[in-house]
Amino acid sequence: MTAALVVLAAFACGVVYCSFFEWTLHKYLMHRPLLGFRYPFRAHAQTHHRVFEWDETYNLQREEDKTLVAMAWWNAPVIILANSPVWFGAGMIAGLGTFNSHFWLGMVGAACSMIVYYALYESLHWCMHVPGNRWFSRSRWFRFLDDHHRMHHKRPMTNLNVVFPLADYILRSKAPGLPPVSRMAQEAREAAEVR
Ligand SMILES: [Zn+2]
Ligand SMILES: [Zn+2]
Repeated sequence: MTAALVVLAAFACGVVYCSFFEWTLHKYLMHRPLLGFRYPFRAHAQTHHRVFEWDETYNLQREEDKTLVAMAWWNAPVIILANSPVWFGAGMIAGLGTFNSHFWLGMVGAACSMIVYYALYESLHWCMHVPGNRWFSRSRWFRFLDDHHRMHHKRPMTNLNVVFPLADYILRSKAPGLPPVSRMAQEAREAAEVR
């Protein structure tokens, strides 16, 4: 029982951490070159955002642009492993500074949260730009996240979270939802359902 609680607590704290990590990575690496490192800026701001804008182009228009929705496959291990010091920190907190069983459980819980968060990022982001008749397409939470991300494509310095917009609310980067954005999102979802 305690073991499950340690894993769950580390997982929950990991999800909160991931929201701020996603926000920071998106703002400082994907929307501006940092210290001459241009790859994420080129792949995201100069490519993804140029092809997918906030209007009807938010939804995939040309089959050949499908490769520009998700990040390159190798981004997953790089981004997840770059956070390994955080897993270690979570383990140290859970184990109260010693390498006991709680240390490992804390580390596993934190690592799992990052893997799940990354998988959700790629899956949800894909479903936003490539709409289809999915079981969750009409759910309130997906419509909210879809509108949230469409607004990011209109105002790129706002709505930097895709999965869990906690950081957008706390760091005050949440854009007020403009009615035209929501209306376009609604129309695109309905069109996808008819197809
Ligand atoms: Zn996008
Ligand atoms: Zn962006």
